[in-house]
Amino acid sequence: VIEIHDLHKRYGSLEVLKGVDISAPVGGVVSLIGSSGSGKSTLLRCCNLLEDSQQGEILFKGEPVQWHGDGLSRRPADPKQVLRIRTNLSMVFQQFNLWSHMTILQNVMEAPVTVLGRDRAEVEQSAHAYLVKVGIGDKANAFPAQLSGGQQQRAAIARALCMEPEALLFDEPTSALDPELEQEVVRVIKDLAREGRTMLIVTHDMKLAADVSDHVVFLHQGLIEEEGAPDRLFGAPKSERLRGFLSATQ
Ligand code: ATP
Ligand code: MG
Repeated sequence: VIEIHDLHKRYGSLEVLKGVDISAPVGGVVSLIGSSGSGKSTLLRCCNLLEDSQQGEILFKGEPVQWHGDGLSRRPADPKQVLRIRTNLSMVFQQFNLWSHMTILQNVMEAPVTVLGRDRAEVEQSAHAYLVKVGIGDKANAFPAQLSGGQQQRAAIARALCMEPEALLFDEPTSALDPELEQEVVRVIKDLAREGRTMLIVTHDMKLAADVSDHVVFLHQGLIEEEGAPDRLFGAPKSERLRGFLSATQ
């Protein structure tokens, strides 16, 4: 669904991504791991064009992102393309970012109705179905503050699903949660993986990465240090840095 080639990204003089290739094939689950500051969130945000970049190619379903400007400052050239890509790559953040003044149902319905212009009654039906799917069907009329962290994150996942995206992008979806709440969210992500959802998951949870991924990418200081199938990568890491990282996260 999404493919990135030789991506370079800098903030001022700080080069955060130094030529990264990554792709999330249809139905595949790719996990992105690495130390704090290695560029994981930046790479994820580049995928749905929340960040500009300086160099490299981004393809959505084979369609290259059109850029305006040069290698020093370039921006996506076509707002329609940006909207198409962004609505098809739904992002779930560490801090669930639910609107506190709206009920859970309204949160889930908001973007499909206002951004995509879909029929309200239809969206309401599917919003309910997604809330049931993530196990909080009874919370539709509650406000975010009335939910536990795990329930709020599941609401955020229902909201992402209600966009009917081609792929889901997760940025540390469980790291703001207590361990027991974390498991509720892990269960939902596992269900989505089993269904064949295309996902790109930034996570510090090596067990989650090992359980759900088809492919794991280890990022180190803006470069891919090692990547591979989870069994191989976790079972027999080749790089010294990856071995160090894994033993530190045990
Ligand atoms: P973490 O595991 O802590 O979430 P990460 O791998 O997601 O880390 P990024 O958030 O991608 O790392 O950040 C990579 C580098 O880019 C860091 O050095 C960070 O300080 C820097 N950075 C991120 N966002 C900005 C910004 N908006 N302006 C300047 N520098 C930034
Ligand atoms: Mg991050």
